[in-house]
Amino acid sequence: MRTAPPALAFQSGQAPPPPPPEVIPVHEHRVVCDGGGGALGHPRVYMEMGDSGFVECGYCDRRFVLVHPAEAEDAALDPADYEGAGGV
Ligand SMILES: [Zn+2]
Repeated sequence: MRTAPPALAFQSGQAPPPPPPEVIPVHEHRVVCDGGGGALGHPRVYMEMGDSGFVECGYCDRRFVLVHPAEAEDAALDPADYEGAGGV
């Protein structure tokens, strides 16, 4: 007399896992997020990632990752030689 085979781990009715949070590459430590509008829209919030290099939005779980540090701000103001002693 054979017993019935054990039922397989058939998981039905379970919702699929949520998709991973969206990663948004940014160039500044200070970012603003409003959820992108639509169904995931939320009030506009400003976030400062500080030294961590990334920050996650508490509303829509988006992750803002710093991809290029803003280090060329002062370099743009290169004091060129100003020659103004050419006139009379
Ligand atoms: Zn957001």
